[in-house]
Amino acid sequence: MRLHATGGPLVCDELPVPEAGPGELLLRVSACGVCRTDLHLVDGELPGIRRPVTPGHEMVGRVVLAGAKARFREGERVGVPWLGGTCGNCRWCREGRENLCDHAVFTGCTRDGGYAEYAVANSDFCFAVPDRYGDAEAAPLLCAGLIGYRAWRAAGDADTVGLYGFGAAAHLLAQLAVSQGRRVLAFTRPGDAEAQRFALSLGAAWAGGSDEPPPEPLDAAILFAPVGALVPAALAATRKGGRVVCAGIHMSDIPSFPYRLLWEERSVVSVANLTRRDGEEFMRLAADVPLHASIERFPLAQANDALAKLRDGELQGAAVLVNERGT
Ligand SMILES: [Zn+2]
Ligand SMILES: [Zn+2]
Repeated sequence: MRLHATGGPLVCDELPVPEAGPGELLLRVSACGVCRTDLHLVDGELPGIRRPVTPGHEMVGRVVLAGAKARFREGERVGVPWLGGTCGNCRWCREGRENLCDHAVFTGCTRDGGYAEYAVANSDFCFAVPDRYGDAEAAPLLCAGLIGYRAWRAAGDADTVGLYGFGAAAHLLAQLAVSQGRRVLAFTRPGDAEAQRFALSLGAAWAGGSDEPPPEPLDAAILFAPVGALVPAALAATRKGGRVVCAGIHMSDIPSFPYRLLWEERSVVSVANLTRRDGEEFMRLAADVPLHASIERFPLAQANDALAKLRDGELQGAAVLVNERGT
C-alpha cells in the first residue's frame, strides 16, 4: 500500500519481491502498526519523503532470506523500527546519539516500510521480538512503545506524569509508569469519555480533557498529541523544575505564552527517533512488566481505513495492518 502523492490515498501496487543485499534481510511481513507519523507522511509534513513510498515502521516479519553477514537467520522473527540505518561516522553517531544521525535512513519514509507483504531491512537495526507477543501485538511496541519509552526517560524521575493524547504510545507508557509506582494523569481530547475510561482502566489516577486543570501539579508532562497549544497548557500544569517532553515528529505551531509559565526552571524538550539501545532496553522491559498492546486489526488492503480512523481519533490503542495471505 503505497503513497504516490501528498494527501494520498495509499494505492495497492503489485511489485516484484525486493532483494536483500549484504547485511540485509528479506522479510515476509505479517503485521505492521499504524503510527501518527504515517499521517504526517501522507500529509507531506516530514522532510525527505521518497515517493512513491511504502509507509510503515512498526513491522513484524519473518526472515525469508538473509544477506551475507546479516545479523538474523532465515525463519527468525524480527521487528523493524523507524530508525532503519545510520552512517556510523558523523558526530552524532560517534557520540552515541545515532537517533540524530545526519544521514539516517527512516523505515517507511526514506526507504520502503511495512505496509507490504515483503520488505527489506538492514539487519543491524532490527530487533528480536519477545516470544510472549503475537506478531500483531508486538507491532505497536516498535514505535509507539519505543518512542514513549524514550520520552519517559527524557521526562526524568517524575512521580506524577501527565500524558497528553491517550493513543497508542500513551496506553503503553501508562502501563510502564504504573508498574513503577508512578501516578499517571491522562489528558484526552475534551469530552472524549471513552478515551478517559480507557486510561483509567489501565491504572491512570485521573483522566480528563486537555482543557481541564489536573487535580495536582505534574512533575513532568509528555505530549503525544501533535497540538502546539498543549505546550503552554502543559507548562501551566507543571510544577517548578518540571519538564515538558514533546514526543511527536511534527506539531502545529506553539502559540506565544507568558514567560512566567517557563520561569522557575521548567523546561521544554523534544525527543527524536530512537537509538538501538532504546530498542533493546525497551523490548526487555515490555516483556518483563509485561505491557499489553490494545490493538485493532485491519487487513493490509484497508490501510486507508486504518489511517482515517487514527485521524478521527476513533481508535482505542493502536491500529495494526495484518497480512492475511500466507500467514
Ligand atoms: Zn551518523
Ligand atoms: Zn511511529
